[in-house]
Amino acid sequence: MKKTPVLKIEDKVFKNLDGKGDWGIKGYKERGGYKGLKKLLTTEPTKHIEKLKDSMLRGRGGAGFPTGLKWSFMPPADAKRPSYLVCNADEGEPGTCKDRDILRYDPHTLVEGLIVGCYTIGAKASYIYVRGEYYDESSRLNQAIEQAYADGLLGKNILGTGVDVDIYVHLGAGAYICGEETALLESLEGKKGQPRVKPPFPAGYGLYGCPTTINNVETIAQVPPILKNKLDWWKRWGRDNNHGTKIFSVSGSVNKPGNFEAPMSIPLKELIEDYAGGVIGGWDNLQAIIPGGSSTPMLNPAQAETMLMDFDALREEGTGLGTAAVVVMNNDVDLIAVMTRISKFYAHESCGQCTPCREGVGWVYKLMKRLGEGEGTQDEIDMLLGITKQIEGKTICAFADGAMWPVQGTMKHFRHLFEERIKKNKTKKSKVA
Ligand code: SF4
Repeated sequence: MKKTPVLKIEDKVFKNLDGKGDWGIKGYKERGGYKGLKKLLTTEPTKHIEKLKDSMLRGRGGAGFPTGLKWSFMPPADAKRPSYLVCNADEGEPGTCKDRDILRYDPHTLVEGLIVGCYTIGAKASYIYVRGEYYDESSRLNQAIEQAYADGLLGKNILGTGVDVDIYVHLGAGAYICGEETALLESLEGKKGQPRVKPPFPAGYGLYGCPTTINNVETIAQVPPILKNKLDWWKRWGRDNNHGTKIFSVSGSVNKPGNFEAPMSIPLKELIEDYAGGVIGGWDNLQAIIPGGSSTPMLNPAQAETMLMDFDALREEGTGLGTAAVVVMNNDVDLIAVMTRISKFYAHESCGQCTPCREGVGWVYKLMKRLGEGEGTQDEIDMLLGITKQIEGKTICAFADGAMWPVQGTMKHFRHLFEERIKKNKTKKSKVA
């Protein structure tokens, strides 16, 4: 198979993702940042939305919803009811660390994206909700925002265009569920971070009851380069419906973990071998891969061999691109222990509003633990699967689904590991008796 071309620096959206250059406004401008901003702020916003729709930029925070379409849901600007652009920098999905590097090494990509985004959807204010643990990153972001104000790129009458934009940074307090967009809004309003029942959707009733669009850091930062360049530039990467570049966070049993910006639809094997230095112990030592953060079901080595990293290819295989946080596990890893730990995480993070999630996710964790210790029976494996099916699709938000899918995925490909452990434990017990 022909190799995916490595992105040249000029083709990258995040030119300082490795942190080697100057993160500040001077360095960003030298890399081409803010060039052409005035033109974007004087072009009809509907043209931007149409171009974004054509680009097929899909949300990089996990859901993969088309950004242009989302922005088109915003009602026209209204003097009585302001509109808001909210940036989701909560980044709580285990395995995911891409927004962190954008905030600390290339924060002006986000600031410029927010200026253009606010103008396009008719908002004058933007809130960035940053996870509380990212204290240093949020400080860096605040410095970048101050630099932009000092340079006339934020505030009133930006670059003499008559466009006004203010940006505010808000630190969360460490709850995973605040990454869910409506829980984030509740938290931003100073309330307990619990998802809202939808509809109404944020475009109609969002922050403070006003029209709101919520997007991930990476998504917003990708908007200006798409609007400044010809669409062919963006569309030459990735398959139809999955265009552009993407940051992949590769971690686990690899020789060179890190965040890598690469073309969408890159083969998973290529990403691991060429970018992340290969699986520790070689490709044949691969046991499983989580392709898009902890809520996406694992792939087995046969699937990983030919998998393309995009929204549609992974969905067709029963998993998802999610946040593109690739967690590689070789044969040294106790896969059941990993899955049990992930279940514990979800049991801890349930917001508690829905009974199936509040109670059921905890049951799943307890059963996983029991089976992992070889204490359960074969019937309990089916019971576990039955519980996951009863929880899925019956709650206010997708959290519970995201907690059940990885368990279902593990059972689909690795059920034998649980069966072997139960069998081994029984043999051990009968020998002792
Ligand atoms: Fe809260 Fe879980 Fe219900 Fe989501 S599914 S609203 S996290 S209880």
